[in-house]
Amino acid sequence: MRYSRQTAFAGLGESGQQKLSAARVAVVGVGALGTVAANCLARAGAGFLRLIDRDYVELTNLHRQMLFTENDARRRIPKAAAAAARLAEANSEIVLEPIVADFNAANAETFLSGIDLVLDAVDNWECRFLLNDICRQKEIPWIYCAALAAEGMTMNFLPGHHPCLQCVVPKQTLTGLQPTCVTAGVLNMAAGAIASIQAAEAVKILTDSPTVRQGLFTADFWNNRFKTIPFEQDADCPVCVHRRFDRLTLPENIQVLKICGQNTIQITPFPPRRFDLENLAGRLQSAGKIDRQPFMVSCETEHHRLTFFSDGRALIENAADEGQAKSLYAEYAGT
Ligand SMILES: [Zn+2]
Repeated sequence: MRYSRQTAFAGLGESGQQKLSAARVAVVGVGALGTVAANCLARAGAGFLRLIDRDYVELTNLHRQMLFTENDARRRIPKAAAAAARLAEANSEIVLEPIVADFNAANAETFLSGIDLVLDAVDNWECRFLLNDICRQKEIPWIYCAALAAEGMTMNFLPGHHPCLQCVVPKQTLTGLQPTCVTAGVLNMAAGAIASIQAAEAVKILTDSPTVRQGLFTADFWNNRFKTIPFEQDADCPVCVHRRFDRLTLPENIQVLKICGQNTIQITPFPPRRFDLENLAGRLQSAGKIDRQPFMVSCETEHHRLTFFSDGRALIENAADEGQAKSLYAEYAGT
């Protein structure tokens, strides 16, 4: 009944709907792209959605991240949790699993276990190449998607004799300064449209449709240019041909990352550690104003805001540089 206006579409039908409800999908990144793609799939009845995101909602997200409200931003609710709560109100018949964590080499295999399809909705190449490695190794199809300014692009990466991300984007072309959503901006229609196209491909892949797109689809919504660029598998590709998955090697030390578009530095400890948030909140009591949430605890001091997650990670706002962020982490959380 719920899906009658969808199953009436001949391309899907009742059998497609059944495949959808049996499907297990991971959405990596729940921002401008992930909120839209997850919204499409949740309402369409994809049976299980694992929503993975490391961040919390902020005011500057609201123009394009379609599942969030001002209240989420005020309360700094983690995006994965806020999205899951909102989607549960739209469809209580599916399973939604929010994961508030950084997707990295230490947890990639666990987070993608039992998953049939992965949607890339992240904002950085490092994470996409990690997705490429783990999905190739485990032979899970995944769908690349990105949006910037008024443009978007997406490509299906399927196991077997199909090109992978490494075949399409050799690493050397990615060095140098890349524009970001801060410097170039991003229109919500561009992000929403390309994420909807990604979700359409997801439904086709999950229901074994013969119309799954090959090649890289690019769209410039401002200048009305749309094209599909074909790609072949690189016969010498280190990842999909020689099956070398270097990015799955665990880093030996703490990882420091400047978060795209924010005055925030992320610290991820390696080997991974876990925080007892209750205990940590108690210890930070004397250092500043404490805000305890289900997935995190933050401490606002005179100059900084430090937010700690149970996976050992921290977001440090207003640190002068990476060095200071590392020392603040050590100072407040210990090493
Ligand atoms: Zn390849």
